[in-house]
Amino acid sequence: MLTVFGSVALDTIRTPKKTLKNVLGGAATFASIAASHFTKTGLIAVIGNDFPKKNYNTLSKYVDLEGLTRLNGKTFRYDGKYDKTLSTRQTLKTELNVLENFKPTVPDKYRKSRFVYLANNDPDQNIAIIKEFNDVRFSMCDTIEFWIQTKRNSVIKMIKSVDAIVINDEEAKLITKENNLIKSAKKMMEWGAQYVIIKKGEHGALFFFQDIIFPTTAFSLENIVDPTGAGDSFAGGMIGYLAKMNKTNLSTIKRSIIFGNVLGSFAVEKYGLNGVIHVNDL
Ligand code: AMP
Repeated sequence: MLTVFGSVALDTIRTPKKTLKNVLGGAATFASIAASHFTKTGLIAVIGNDFPKKNYNTLSKYVDLEGLTRLNGKTFRYDGKYDKTLSTRQTLKTELNVLENFKPTVPDKYRKSRFVYLANNDPDQNIAIIKEFNDVRFSMCDTIEFWIQTKRNSVIKMIKSVDAIVINDEEAKLITKENNLIKSAKKMMEWGAQYVIIKKGEHGALFFFQDIIFPTTAFSLENIVDPTGAGDSFAGGMIGYLAKMNKTNLSTIKRSIIFGNVLGSFAVEKYGLNGVIHVNDL
């Protein structure tokens, strides 16, 4: 079984052609739905009492929700705006709400998960929760500028506490204070990550392990409408495939990165979650 922990959000996403207001999003949402195309996936996350029933129903179609906690207060909210080329996103607002000070617990049935993905989330919560699993074979985390700016030391500790980090190129440079991605990956390996995957958006991803560098391309698309969640879908696809194969040898990891690229490409083709939901025949 795979467990995914991270943000479930109500997102406002402003693209040049369309604005989506308070739609279901969050790093763990994209990642767990992407992973669910490969394997049984449990979600650990928190929502507020404003979380719409229809969003709960959507999640419940794809993932196990025993780990989803509802607290009094507002759901985590994110507001971001893309430039006209859809290549840069400016964060307008990050409201942690019930996510702040959340003390996650792992349901008994998730404790034996061999595969755990700590999606973009508070690094201190990620560090705490990974210790609650008894038999992890492969753990992976992600992070974003917000946490690097607010909790850099905790992000570095989180990288130490997992097997793999998946991170986008700009954030890899930001956390390591390096301008070169190879130097950046080496630094994250020195901090304790065995595997480093650096996502480069439409240019694919670089995988690093010991002295190996394995570059992959993204699946090229002519029409991209909303890049939100591409990175999370990449990670979910990748670890979902590993969990399905129940293997962590090098060639399976390399293949999982190809699946990650494919799931990322599904995510950007449609608005919100629609791309990653409507995937057939994997
Ligand atoms: P991505 O496009 O892969 O960066 O992921 C976008 C998703 O990450 C959105 O659905 C947001 O709700 C979520 N998100 C944005 N900022 C944060 C944050 N600081 N912590 C956790 N999740 C976040």
